[in-house]
Amino acid sequence: MWLTNARVFDATGAAARDGRAILIEDGLIAAEDQAGAVPDGVDVIDLAGRTVLPGLIDAHAHVFATPPTPDDGAEPLWPGLTAHFVATGLREALRMGFTTLRDVGSYGDEVITARQAMRYGAFPGPRLLTCGRIVSATAPGGRFFDGMYREADGPDEVRKAVREQVRRGADFVKVMSTGARSVELEDPHPAQLTGPEIAALVDEAHRLGYRVAAHAEGLAGTELAIRLGADTIEHGMYLNQRPDLLDEMAAAGQVLVPTLSCYYGVASGQWTAPLVRLARHNLAEASRTLLAARAAGVPIALGHDWQPFSDAAVELIRLVEHGMTTHEALLAATATGARALGLDDRLGTIQSGKVADLTVVDGDPLTDPVLLRDRAQIWLVLQRGAPVAGAVFDNSAAIAANARTAADSRSVTHTSALSNAGRPRSGTTETPG
Ligand SMILES: [Zn+2]
Repeated sequence: MWLTNARVFDATGAAARDGRAILIEDGLIAAEDQAGAVPDGVDVIDLAGRTVLPGLIDAHAHVFATPPTPDDGAEPLWPGLTAHFVATGLREALRMGFTTLRDVGSYGDEVITARQAMRYGAFPGPRLLTCGRIVSATAPGGRFFDGMYREADGPDEVRKAVREQVRRGADFVKVMSTGARSVELEDPHPAQLTGPEIAALVDEAHRLGYRVAAHAEGLAGTELAIRLGADTIEHGMYLNQRPDLLDEMAAAGQVLVPTLSCYYGVASGQWTAPLVRLARHNLAEASRTLLAARAAGVPIALGHDWQPFSDAAVELIRLVEHGMTTHEALLAATATGARALGLDDRLGTIQSGKVADLTVVDGDPLTDPVLLRDRAQIWLVLQRGAPVAGAVFDNSAAIAANARTAADSRSVTHTSALSNAGRPRSGTTETPG
C-alpha cells in the first residue's frame, strides 16, 4: 500500500513534513519518503495533505464497562451483557485512532476474553496489553474493586501472585506500591507493600521477562518502586517534591505516566467530599510534577486513567494545557507510550521496519490537538497496514469521493482495501507477549 500526499509526524523528534509518502509491505512500514512516482502494484490512498501519526497509545487504560441499570420491573441483566459493552468500547478506541491500549486493571477476566475474541476476528479493536489482576497488599481497595486485585502478603505470596498473572496470560505486572486516592479508606502515604515484597515482585516479573508498572502516589511507596526497578511509575504526582527521584528515573529510563484526567474525574464526579478535595490538591501537585519531570528529562507517556476509555485523547489535550508542547504531548502518545510498554522496537514511530499502525487526521493536530477528540476528524486508522476504522468508513459518499481522488491521480485503485477493511481480520490484534 502506498499512502501519498501526506503530512507526516513520525514521532522521532523531527518536525512534521508535508508532501510525504509511506510504503507499507506485509503490515510493516517499508519506507517513508518524499512523495514521488507510485511504485508498481500497490494500492494507493491519496491523503490530500492530511496528517499521519503513529497509531496512538494509551499507556494507562482501565478497560471495563459499567453495565446499565435497568428500570424497576425491567428484565434483569444477563451475565454476558457487560462483555458486549467492553467490545463496543474497544471498537470505539480504535475508531478514535488508539491502536494500542495498556490495561492496568479491570474486572475479572473480561479483558483477557476480549483480547482473545479480537485475535479470532470477533470484532476490531486496539492491540491490547493487560496486567491481569493488580498485585496488591491485603487492603481496602480489594474490597472496593472486587475482581480487579490479587491481594498478596509476604515476598513468597507476592511471587506466586506474579506467576498467577503470567498463567492467566498477562503481558506485564501491575503493583500497588501505595494506596489509591479513589478509595476513602486508603492512605496513600505509607508504602502499601514492604521493600522485600516489592523487590520480590520486580525480581520475579523481570526474571520471567515481564515489565512492571507501579501504582505510585505517596512518596514512600513511590521511592521503593523507583529504587527497586519498576519500569513505569503511574501517577507519581508528588515527585516534584523529590527532584532526586526524578533524576534517578531519568538516569534509569523509567517512564512516568501522569494520568491528569483521573484527578479531573474525581474532582468533578460523585465522590466523597474528602476525595474531591484531595483530587483538586493532587491535580496541582501532578501539574507541578509534569513540568519538573519534563525539565529533569524523565520520559513521559500518555495515560488516560478514566472512562470512557475510548476518550483517551482528552489526556493529550490536558498534557498541553498543563505545559507540554503539542509536539511533546504527541510523543507521549506515541514513541514514549511504546517505550513504556517495552514495544519501542516495533511501535510508536513512523520508520522503516515498524508495524504500520497509523492514524490519519483530517487537519493538523500539532496546531490544533482538540481535533483528536473529534470523531469526524479521525479520517482513517490502519492496523498492521490494513485500513480498519475512521470517518472515511462512516458513509459511502466519503469512500466514493476518495476513490475519485485516487482515480484522478491515475493511481491503482485502493477501494478494495478500504471496503475489505470493514471486516475484522484475525491476527490483526495479536499482542506480543
Ligand atoms: Zn489507574
